[in-house]
Amino acid sequence: LTRLYGPLTALSNVRVDVMSALVSFDRVFEVLDLAPSIAEKPDAVDIPAGAGRLEFRDVRFRYPSAAEVSLASLEEVATLDRTVTEPVLRGVSFAVQPGQMVALVGPSGAGKSTTSMLVSRIYDVTDGEVLVGGVDVRDAKLASLRDTIGVVTQDSHLFHETIADNLRYAKPEATDDELWSALRGAQVEELVRSLPDGLDTVVGERGYRFSGGEKQRIAIARLLLKAPSIVILDEATAHLDSESEAAVQRALSVALSGRTALVIAHRLSTVRNADQILVLDDGKIVEHGRHDDLVAAGGLYAELYRTQFAVADSPAPYTDAVGPE
Ligand code: ADP
Ligand code: MG
Repeated sequence: LTRLYGPLTALSNVRVDVMSALVSFDRVFEVLDLAPSIAEKPDAVDIPAGAGRLEFRDVRFRYPSAAEVSLASLEEVATLDRTVTEPVLRGVSFAVQPGQMVALVGPSGAGKSTTSMLVSRIYDVTDGEVLVGGVDVRDAKLASLRDTIGVVTQDSHLFHETIADNLRYAKPEATDDELWSALRGAQVEELVRSLPDGLDTVVGERGYRFSGGEKQRIAIARLLLKAPSIVILDEATAHLDSESEAAVQRALSVALSGRTALVIAHRLSTVRNADQILVLDDGKIVEHGRHDDLVAAGGLYAELYRTQFAVADSPAPYTDAVGPE
């Protein structure tokens, strides 16, 4: 709690300083946007257990301006230009029903990762609502939100600790049997069993160095232990060679089964299986539907399909030229 309260207290002092230092009030609020806005309301509620519905209602978002400015340099903050960042999401609405898999696709920079970050409240919406199990995420207890949502991004982080410790972040009271079962589901049990220290193997620089794909599978084991009802994948298999990508895909299909999923995908096989595809472009959903219909419509999806997905799924043409590793 000290860790949480420390900065907040410091911040409320800052608020006073800034107030007196600045002339314009709306500029004050702009500066306060720099503060971590993610706090739990005193009357926060639990998201219903097993909640599987996710909804965006006319969500608008722009990143806080001058986010890099540290609170240490308040004089600088006071002299900042009054810059307002461009809106990144410009009225995004969609619903994912319990158990559905929805694919979110779009060009780089369209706002896909931003969308995913609003669900787990890395940031709060500028306007509109994000609802999980019918609860506005800003009204939810943070612990409840964390239990409900599981996220896997393209570079999962493992701590310089044992494999067991890394997994128990998801479920501190998990037995070794549960850890093994999660590792099995994540297609990484055999590997861990083959290590001399097994679950007690230390991960990282001075320990066992997992490859990118192995790391992803450990992260998926962590997700399986946590057993969230809603899973968000943000390009979880990007940057993997095709062999480890296949293993991670198998792990992901275990992880997604029976859960609601929002999948930011670059692979045709994933997108084709989606119950619904949302096409995001420049902060707006410009098309939505199933694969065949979107291809037939000949719009942005059809173009992405030709230039991106089809390419990502075909065997890399340069493999032969490179030769065996
Ligand atoms: P995508 O995942 O679809 O490639 P992002 O959600 O990462 O797109 O980014 C959407 C837009 O938001 C881009 O213009 C990007 O430059 C901008 N952006 C992303 N992260 C930040 C940030 N932390 N601060 C300011 N702008 C950001
Ligand atoms: Mg992204």
